[in-house]
Amino acid sequence: IRTQLKDSSLFKEEAFINGNWVSSKKTFAINNPATDEIIANVANLETADAENAIAAAEKALPEWRNKLAKERASIMRKWFDLIIANTQDLATLMTLEQGKPLAEAAGEVVYGASFVEWFAEEAKRVEGSVLSTTWSDKRLMVLKQPIGVCVAITPWNFPIAMITRKIAPAMAAGCTIVIKPAELTPLSALALAELGKRAGIPDGVINIVTADADQSIAIGKTLCASPTVRHLSFTGSTEVGRILMEQCAPTVKKLALELGGHAPFIVFEDADIDAAVSGAMASKFRNSGQTCVCANRFYVHKKVQDTFVEKFAKALEIIKVGNGMQAGITQGPLIETAALEKVKKHVADALSKGATLVTGGKPSVEGKNFYEPTILSNVNSQMLITYEETFGPIAPIIPFESDEEVIKLANSSQFGLASYFYSRDIGRVWKVAEALEYGMVGVNTGLISNEVAPFGGIKQSGLGREGSLYGMDEYLEMKYVCVGL
Ligand code: ADP
Repeated sequence: IRTQLKDSSLFKEEAFINGNWVSSKKTFAINNPATDEIIANVANLETADAENAIAAAEKALPEWRNKLAKERASIMRKWFDLIIANTQDLATLMTLEQGKPLAEAAGEVVYGASFVEWFAEEAKRVEGSVLSTTWSDKRLMVLKQPIGVCVAITPWNFPIAMITRKIAPAMAAGCTIVIKPAELTPLSALALAELGKRAGIPDGVINIVTADADQSIAIGKTLCASPTVRHLSFTGSTEVGRILMEQCAPTVKKLALELGGHAPFIVFEDADIDAAVSGAMASKFRNSGQTCVCANRFYVHKKVQDTFVEKFAKALEIIKVGNGMQAGITQGPLIETAALEKVKKHVADALSKGATLVTGGKPSVEGKNFYEPTILSNVNSQMLITYEETFGPIAPIIPFESDEEVIKLANSSQFGLASYFYSRDIGRVWKVAEALEYGMVGVNTGLISNEVAPFGGIKQSGLGREGSLYGMDEYLEMKYVCVGL
């Protein structure tokens, strides 16, 4: 890897605790999903190391919390500048460990950095309040204070952005953090930490504990059980979210959970079909379909179904599947073989229950973990793909006839993260946007995430919001102060 980086010192295989690079007796292998080659061997930490990381974060807390917001903001701004300056290397590391095409990886670096910039600015705008008193001899106030030591457990699909979206508001609020990055993509996280060190983030403010899948479970237990840790933020599957919630119950931690999604994408009969097709492309095929806000179910009005399917299939022809390090590639591999197996299972199930294969429908010749971009039509709600998250490049098309019917279908999910719809009718736009039981609604667009908007889900898609001015509240406690005169 080092030879592929402009700055080879961004390649780290050791964990990062209390400002030090920490090795371990055991290591675990990091695989390039495009080539199936081992590209790194990263420290596989023990639970005792996680305890050390918590202790380091606890030790660093008073000084960090007591810095002026302006001072924290200035360090974070330096970190932001360094992330942007090293975009190319960070993107290279990400493509090698995660598979997404280089241009898309660079896009994530900029997106991930935007949270650091945004929360550095927001740090200066944390405000309490003075209440109208009900006692003439007392004055009432609300202070906002950092919650304390935080933990972030993050997934592999956005190896940088899912980390910055959690640690930037935590740091800005005056908290210190222990991060357990996904075992499949720790290299991006470690490079971020190196840049943080260069930016002057004090020792112990951010700590990165790396571990393989088994050790992640053990370390997860340690982090959840610690009474020192006051907040846990997790992005990943709903199943693991439930486990973490349970494990955090004994110490009553505050939780932020960004869990699974199953986004409906509705095309009404009055939609601009070309716009709907380009929105569908962006929403469905980004990151090979491996995002929690990817469209999972396309509900298309019967009157426009044929036109939509034809244009969508035509649009898919521009997708170039292959190793994301090569120029011109727009769809990389799936993260691992198990992910490919799930996609194969969903497609086979749909076809066996009567779906029509429009295009794709099989693994790609590019290599072991690649799957062709696929459209299935005549899908119905008996098929697995309409209720389980696929996390792959498959677009299932389900016809509908009325607004009431499609809203009911769209809402018939345990998930409530993102949703999308296309219509030019202003009345319908309002009614449908209000009726969809989702934390986020894209109207006439397939891309909605940015640092200024609150990202998050309802129902079993999670708790809390990330990004935006609301994202900081997650890491602040309110304190009521009543002063007798
Ligand atoms: P995905 O479905 O995105 O692969 P997972 O929910 O399996 O997501 O994993 C997301 C993160 O949660 C990863 O960092 C992983 O190591 C971690 N993780 C998985 N299982 C557990 C567990 N039982 N306890 C703590 N962390 C876990």
